[in-house]
Amino acid sequence: MDSGKIVSFKDKTGISHSLIQRLLKKAKDYGLEAIFPFSVDKIIIAEWVNLKCCYGCNRYNTNWCCPPATPDIERVRTVLGEYSTALLLVGTQTCPDFYRNNARKRANQVRYWKGTLSLERMLFLQGYYKAFSLVGETCALCKECAYPEACLFPQEKRPCVESFYIDVIGTLKNLGTTSKVAKHRNESFSYYGIILVE
Ligand code: SF4
Repeated sequence: MDSGKIVSFKDKTGISHSLIQRLLKKAKDYGLEAIFPFSVDKIIIAEWVNLKCCYGCNRYNTNWCCPPATPDIERVRTVLGEYSTALLLVGTQTCPDFYRNNARKRANQVRYWKGTLSLERMLFLQGYYKAFSLVGETCALCKECAYPEACLFPQEKRPCVESFYIDVIGTLKNLGTTSKVAKHRNESFSYYGIILVE
């Protein structure tokens, strides 16, 4: 990631360098590698993202953190309009035995999920009372989501990034960076989460 461009953007977000450093220290406990503050108006949302959820993803209509349980695009637009600053969280993982060992992928998902929520909590305690996480991938806190029955961990329930109609690759381009697509099982792939801050 070309951090230079994003870090220079950080100066306009109003989040202090020392807070970012403290968040990053905590993030690393959960395997996250980098945090980039950015302006929410750089986020691209699009209806086609929801098509990818509806057609081709087996999580659709099976999880509280995925469509159709999550807000529609008009509500997403309204919510994003209520924030000016967000944090992009980045992690990297490899899972060459993905098809044989889905438990390991789930363990990573849960780690990132808990890490993202723990950063949200830190921000809240620092006075950023609007902080709200959009977590990468779907919620895997339970081996099988209780949906449509009541969520078993409602305090940790958050929408995933894609459920918010966010075009992740387009948004990364908008931030002056790119994301590498893993073409082979042995290649690493990136985790992206977002925390809306203020
Ligand atoms: S905590 Fe469990 S029940 Fe709630 S959304 Fe996550 S997987 Fe589903």
